[in-house]
Amino acid sequence: MKPTSFVFRSLQARILTLFVLLFLVVQVLGFSFTVRTISDNARAQLREELTVGERLFGRQMAQNGQRLIQAANILSGDFGFREAVATNAGETIASALRNHGSRIHADITMYADLRGKIIASSVPAMAAGSAFPFPAMIKSAENEDSAVSIVQLNDAPYQLVIVPLKAPVAIGWIAFGFRLNDRDMSDFEALTRIKLSVITRDAASHWSVAASNFQAPLWPELIAQAGTNPPPQLLMTLGGEEYESRLSTLSQQGDSIAIAVLQRSVNEAAAPYRKLQTTLLILTLGGLGLLLAGSMLVSQRIVRPVRELAASAKRIEEGDYTQAVEVRGHDEIAELGSALNHMRGAISAREQRIIQLAYSDELTALPNRAMFMDRLEQAVKVSCRLGRPMSVLMMDLDRFKLINDALGHQRGDEVLRAVGQRLAGVVARESDTLARLGGDEFAILLPADGADGARMIAQRIVHAMEQPMTVQEVAVDVGISIGIVTAPEHGEDAATLMRRADIAMYVTKRNGNGWTHYHRSFDGQSPDRLSMLSEMRRAIEMDEFVLYYQPKVSLLTGEVNGAEALVRWTHPDRGFLPPDQFIPFAEQTGFITQITRWVLKAAFAQCAEWWRQGRALNIAVNLSARDLHAPGLVDYVRDQLKEHGVQPEWVTLEVTESAVMSDAARALETLEVLHKMGLLLAIDDFGTGYSSFAYLKKMPVDELKIDKSFVMDMILDRDDAAIVRSVIDLSHNMGLKVTAEGAENDAIIQSLVSLNCDLAQGYHWTPPLGQGEFELWLDQYSHQRRSSLSEHASESFDRSKLS
Ligand code: C2E
Ligand code: MG
Ligand code: MG
Repeated sequence: MKPTSFVFRSLQARILTLFVLLFLVVQVLGFSFTVRTISDNARAQLREELTVGERLFGRQMAQNGQRLIQAANILSGDFGFREAVATNAGETIASALRNHGSRIHADITMYADLRGKIIASSVPAMAAGSAFPFPAMIKSAENEDSAVSIVQLNDAPYQLVIVPLKAPVAIGWIAFGFRLNDRDMSDFEALTRIKLSVITRDAASHWSVAASNFQAPLWPELIAQAGTNPPPQLLMTLGGEEYESRLSTLSQQGDSIAIAVLQRSVNEAAAPYRKLQTTLLILTLGGLGLLLAGSMLVSQRIVRPVRELAASAKRIEEGDYTQAVEVRGHDEIAELGSALNHMRGAISAREQRIIQLAYSDELTALPNRAMFMDRLEQAVKVSCRLGRPMSVLMMDLDRFKLINDALGHQRGDEVLRAVGQRLAGVVARESDTLARLGGDEFAILLPADGADGARMIAQRIVHAMEQPMTVQEVAVDVGISIGIVTAPEHGEDAATLMRRADIAMYVTKRNGNGWTHYHRSFDGQSPDRLSMLSEMRRAIEMDEFVLYYQPKVSLLTGEVNGAEALVRWTHPDRGFLPPDQFIPFAEQTGFITQITRWVLKAAFAQCAEWWRQGRALNIAVNLSARDLHAPGLVDYVRDQLKEHGVQPEWVTLEVTESAVMSDAARALETLEVLHKMGLLLAIDDFGTGYSSFAYLKKMPVDELKIDKSFVMDMILDRDDAAIVRSVIDLSHNMGLKVTAEGAENDAIIQSLVSLNCDLAQGYHWTPPLGQGEFELWLDQYSHQRRSSLSEHASESFDRSKLS
């Protein structure tokens, strides 16, 4: 944009400029026209006045002449004068002329005889004897009886009258002359306001001012202009002032000429009009001011709403649709304003719709993947910045394709809607986001929950999905597989978290175990880990798992009254795997529930078999946390007991404290039911977890197993010994049996015996053994015991001989 146009970029400036320019043009034209007209009128009027003045001057001259004629006639009738003339007494004539002349204020007196010879004269240049200088006047006086004329004498204008001296016929001529002087001029000016000058030119063509109202310094200018401009009408400039002038010839004798110059000041004549002009100018200026104020107001009226409209349009451009344009009045701008308002509303509605389409899932009305990713990205940033954990649950319906195919797409959609509603029921917090990612995939963002919170939600979801679902009067069984990730532990960006949640979900799908918390071991870096899942599946199908048994020996009687079943995996490629190489992974992935079922089945079968063989052994089976939370454990145990003909009291189920704590209510509920069924319950690895006796009181347990780490070191470590002692005492107080794990040597056993520990298990007797070996060991042990007992048949049982 060029800088010159900057000012005019503003509409207001343009309107103002245009109005002012228009106004000025009109005013200037009007003003100059008025001024022209005024001055033209004034001059025309002046010319008129001058013409009148000229006539007046002429009349005044004529009247003067008459007056002079009368005065001369009086003299001519004077007897004494006639006497003097008759006697031709020159001196007397002259004195009479003088007297008479001075009475009537004449400047020149003269007497000439009939032949025109001067007898007496007051003009020295025309002494007696010389000829009367104006013979033409005598001629006309002869006819008219008198003559009046303006003449020049000594380069000065005079009004000259001549009358005959009659006695009774004419005997000579009397002449009186009055010099035209400045006073005459002043009188004339006083009467007419016309400045009057008389200028003369002598025989030598020399101009001079005879009389004038003007000051002498202006005379040269007057002569210069009047003398060279013969036309009767002209405009002269004297002393810088303009004068309308009229020239009137008073007399002309040969080259000599007398001219009257009548003048009126243009300025003076225009004075009244000038007042008018001033008024006009003030009006113009006032008008300009009013116009400025008015057009400012008008332009503001236009410009302000236009600016508001522009600001509103800008707001709309920036996506702010909250403020409506204020519409005032009914003019075009108001129309534009309400049109803009309508447009704003329409755009906002359309944008809302677009956002809705872009960010929400039409089927379930839940947020869609785009919105979920958006919020996830935000949440991850916050989580990483504050170091506060957050979690994502990714879910996929099991067998949804089957449902869809069997019931039709319409019902399929209904199922998805119903699932959406159930999930929404679980996600109660407003900060959490439940979204449908597409197909039968859902996700939940928990921006303020770590692993525990996420697991709790996952369990609630599994629980919610277990409730029967009816869609259009058809009962559908919808399972769900959940993958959980927790940031920042499992990733610090949305994409990584989603990928890992997907992996965890995939793991769940393969295990059919409800939910799986992601573990690094799932990641692509160790594909063998992932393949381990399918390998474990295969292991169950192909019976690659095998149970080992470790005896539980009574420290009171020395009898083996139970055995703990401990799983092993005879892997076709990797060989014999101890539990710590696959159990933790199975727990993370949830596959442990499958293994537990297998173990329960195998252990029960073995237990029943032993009882049939006359080996009255209590079988102990380990349960994981997942087992307590997964649905169907109780039913499965009941079925298996029944199937194998195992009495519940032949079975002890071992759980760790932490397994119970992770979802205490549900775990306790499960344990309660199992306990009521008659199964024995033991707390495994006591001392490594939460270890709260207060809490233990609430649990339906029969046995407590002290973790081997305390037992193994109790001989050397007094603290461990103290712990073992107090655990045994407190357990007994609570009516619980105590088993010590890790009984590796005789010293430990002696110590445990002295502390009244009920049972022990450990390498001192044997590590866990396969079924056949275990039976052999058992037979051997019984045999040894029997022979040792018969050796000391008379003695009471020696507990020190337990080995
Ligand atoms: P646990 O339930 O505490 O089992 C006892 C473990 O201590 C067994 O290890 C056993 O071999 C070992 N042990 C016994 N006496 C001694 C001893 O005197 N000295 C030492 N150092 N160790 C002794 P194992 O068989 O390797 O099992 C390890 C853990 O694996 C078990 O601990 C249990 O938590 C888990 N596990 C084993 N089988 C199963 C199963 O079928 N289901 C589940 N859920 N967990 C299992
Ligand atoms: Mg155990
Ligand atoms: Mg243990």
